[in-house]
Amino acid sequence: MSTETLNFNADVSRLLDIVANALYTNHDVFLRELISNAADACDRLRYDAIQNPELTKDNPDFRVHIYKDADTRTLTVIDNGIGMDHDELVDNLGTIAKSGTATLMEQMKDEKDPLKLIGQFGVGFYASYMVADKVTVTSRKAGDNKTWAWESDGRSGFTIREATKGEAKSLDGERGTAIALHIKDEGSEFLIDEKTKQTIETYSDHIDVKIFQNTPEDTAKGEGKPVNSASAIWMRPKNEITKEQYTEFYKHITHGFDEPLMTSHWRAEGKIEFNALLFIPTLRPWDLYDPGRKNTMRLYVRRVFISDDLEGLTYPWLRFVRGVIDSEDLPLNISRESLQFNPIISRIRSSVTKHILSDFDKLSRDDPPAFFTFWGQFGPAIKEGLYDAAEHREALFKICRFFSTHADDKFVSLEDYVSRMKEGQKDIYYISGENLDMLKNSPQIEGFKSRGLEVLFFTDTIDDFWLQQVQDYQGKTFKSVTKGDIDLTEDTTTTSAEKDTNDSSCNKLIEELKTLLSDDIEDVRISKRLTDSPVCLIAPDSGVDMHMERVLKVHQKYQGSSKPVLEINTGHALIKKLAKLAEKEPANDDMKEAGLLLLDQARIIQGQPLSNPAAFAQRMASFMERGLG
Ligand code: ADP
Repeated sequence: MSTETLNFNADVSRLLDIVANALYTNHDVFLRELISNAADACDRLRYDAIQNPELTKDNPDFRVHIYKDADTRTLTVIDNGIGMDHDELVDNLGTIAKSGTATLMEQMKDEKDPLKLIGQFGVGFYASYMVADKVTVTSRKAGDNKTWAWESDGRSGFTIREATKGEAKSLDGERGTAIALHIKDEGSEFLIDEKTKQTIETYSDHIDVKIFQNTPEDTAKGEGKPVNSASAIWMRPKNEITKEQYTEFYKHITHGFDEPLMTSHWRAEGKIEFNALLFIPTLRPWDLYDPGRKNTMRLYVRRVFISDDLEGLTYPWLRFVRGVIDSEDLPLNISRESLQFNPIISRIRSSVTKHILSDFDKLSRDDPPAFFTFWGQFGPAIKEGLYDAAEHREALFKICRFFSTHADDKFVSLEDYVSRMKEGQKDIYYISGENLDMLKNSPQIEGFKSRGLEVLFFTDTIDDFWLQQVQDYQGKTFKSVTKGDIDLTEDTTTTSAEKDTNDSSCNKLIEELKTLLSDDIEDVRISKRLTDSPVCLIAPDSGVDMHMERVLKVHQKYQGSSKPVLEINTGHALIKKLAKLAEKEPANDDMKEAGLLLLDQARIIQGQPLSNPAAFAQRMASFMERGLG
């Protein structure tokens, strides 16, 4: 077959641009990516060979070789893993199959530090072009009899053709992939053996495939020892592993540039047995809220890699946890499809969840600043678990944190809240909305603040979802301060605002406002929760909380629509004036205009749209004009 010339798809071209321009500071990374790919290729063949032992019969030992040829300025990475056929070379090295690529590229345009994002995405094979101006990939798929040569200068496209005999000497007649990098000036250090050795050591110590720094032929002659220890890091005792080794392994599985925020390494023994090595990233993955994001936990069965996207292995709300679970109990010869329904998987999930939640709890006590960072990054995702996994709710509540009237920009736990509850207080008060500053200044919390009652600020959209499922924490009901008639007078003494007002003095005003605003308001009543503001809106006793209603509607989870209740502060000078006016002259135009203005003000404070902004502006201008005399 003759040589085909093909173009990269648009995403690859943009990625290559970024690689060439943005990643120049961290050249070593290309070798980590190539070693990762080589080890993955061995893992995949190891798995396939369980069903089809023929595939590895001739050469059951998995190996990676990395060596240079100074004369031709070439560095070659060879593995005897699964290999690629013609179509796989075209697809894998000509397009980017990862979901969310387009979104990432979009985000990257506005990102000051694209390295941060691309690091999480993993440039993979394309990182080669940081050090090479031409790359030739020769590959033969295990079980096939044809070897293919893919070649590209990393600009617009690539060529692919059948490899001639002798071209990839080390692969001839054998499965695997040889990646020959033609090293450009910027990468010259990788033609120095010592430099390459150091880099390989850093990136391969945890990899359980032997890596040699010489040709396969030399190794066959018995020359050279493996550079790495080639044992699975998660099987080694904790006290033999350094922090650096953990970090390198983390980077290997995540392709990340960040350090893990938390590392959990343990062995579960008893009814089910497995080893787990899990990491919490410092940075939130760019696609954490992308619905296409899959579970990325790697499942091994007795050291054989099985899958890195098995649904059900972890909960979706722990989708940011990275790492390895190696089961001793699962059968090896089981299809990936049926694995998902294996009861051992759900037992592993439950056990891993318990362990990781208790580690989060421990982190919150041992290292509060780290936990603060962690919660800021992943809290909203974790809270999905409150409605998704009732069996872990108690443990989840232990780690959930919220902003509160009692802690300035610090998170508080529900345990803290309960310990501060006032005598006679039965409920946990909260207010929900997107903007913390707006919530802090909400009129609805005035009365709570003046009485020293703590109110939690629920600022994540997810809060309005779990609150539909969860009624209480340790028997204390979650109660929205923007819903229903709350009588605060029982809790503590009445405020001065209430004392100097005779409620019946407002009867006429209430009557007038009810008629005037009947299209928008269900009721008008005297507020017990206001101290400084003249009015506020709240949801009726039987209705859905106002913010929750808005959130649910946006997510098409709620059709209904309820009118709010307008509460008036009878201690406020303006309300007192209006009450007098209403008594004297019920149909007074100024009183009516003021009523309409007050309703719109209440809406603005709550971040609700005005039904007629122009009318509001006109009314306001007319009042100001008269006010200025
Ligand atoms: P990633 O490894 O993140 O998927 P890469 O760009 O590094 O992205 O590689 C793309 C794909 O090419 C891999 O998913 C794999 O299918 C294939 N590939 C890369 N290197 C090898 C290799 N040495 N052997 C077999 N397949 C490989």
